Amino acid sequence: MTWRTRSNLAWLRALAGVKPDESLASRTSFGIGGPAEFFLELGRPDAIEKVIEGSKEREIPYLLLGAGTNLLIADRGVEGLVVRVVTRDHQIEGTRVRAAAGLKMMRLARVVADANLRGFEFAIGVPGTVGGAVYQDAGCWGKEIREVLVEVEGFVPGGGRKKWRPADLEFGYRTSALKDGPLTGALVVSATLQLERGDGEEARQLMAKLTRERNETQPIKTKNCGSVFKNPPGDSAGRLVQAAGLKGAREGAAVVSQLHGNFIVNEGGATAADVRKLIEHVMAEVKRRFGAQLEPEVEMVGRW
Ligand SMILES: Cc1cc2nc3c(=O)[nH]c(=O)nc-3n(C[C@H](O)[C@H](O)[C@H](O)COP(=O)(O)OP(=O)(O)OC[C@H]3O[C@@H](n4cnc5c(N)ncnc54)[C@H](O)[C@@H]3O)c2cc1C
Repeated sequence: MTWRTRSNLAWLRALAGVKPDESLASRTSFGIGGPAEFFLELGRPDAIEKVIEGSKEREIPYLLLGAGTNLLIADRGVEGLVVRVVTRDHQIEGTRVRAAAGLKMMRLARVVADANLRGFEFAIGVPGTVGGAVYQDAGCWGKEIREVLVEVEGFVPGGGRKKWRPADLEFGYRTSALKDGPLTGALVVSATLQLERGDGEEARQLMAKLTRERNETQPIKTKNCGSVFKNPPGDSAGRLVQAAGLKGAREGAAVVSQLHGNFIVNEGGATAADVRKLIEHVMAEVKRRFGAQLEPEVEMVGRW
């Protein structure tokens, strides 16, 4: 609580465009979450860098927000500053693509297909941003973003602008040095991808097929956060949840999807506490039935 001094609060209130007590629910795919104590939406990397540098110097906690598709934000909201990254530019040179962190992966997948590039079709399954994808090595249909990354531009508060190669980022299954290692709190500014020249129409057809298949097996059009749990080695979290008889289990308006056991759906009006309770119940039941320890993939943030 030491950060909440008069001069720090005055600094936060003076930030251009800052909104105090701004609800975050509509900025998450779950449609759940209390307010940010202070909220900013910024479309220029230098502006984001300045603000997080200032926050770090003043010991003000901050959270970077992308598309909010992997977050369960507490009902009591988030302490300090929340900065939504909405940098959305991209450049294509030959088979290399540089994309700003705030660009949606799905949008970029369509853009590169239109430029007759292949190898990024998997991104049509990831509704988050490029920054959020790098942060935890997002992937789909057996392919992950690290496989097409050549360079990440970043910013470390107190350490300045950086250029990282994939090997610097310690990627693993839904993890990286940005999420669980020495680079926590750093900003992804942009990612440069190496793709292959190919037929854009084939890429579009593949993406349409993958999306159709997904719509049949996952509750994609509901309020959810994608996979709630990481898959344990050699198994699938959805299979374990189903085998434990937990499809349809509910807590308030939060329910384990009947379509796919690894999805929790907000049927309307679910609280973060409901979802968290349901997550804990599923973990306890799967552990009791099969001895398997599920680990949440969704990130729970804020004041619980
Ligand atoms: C319907 C649905 C389907 C999904 N399917 C998949 C899937 O197939 N594969 C998969 O991997 N994921 C999937 N997800 C989860 C989600 O889309 C990914 O985890 C995505 O990478 C999150 O990106 P985001 O921009 O939404 O990040 P957010 O949820 O906004 O944030 C998540 C974390 O990323 C950090 N972050 C965001 N932007 C930056 C940045 N610029 N710099 C540093 N840190 C940053 C945040 O601080 C936070 O800690 C799915 C989600 C939904 C709702």
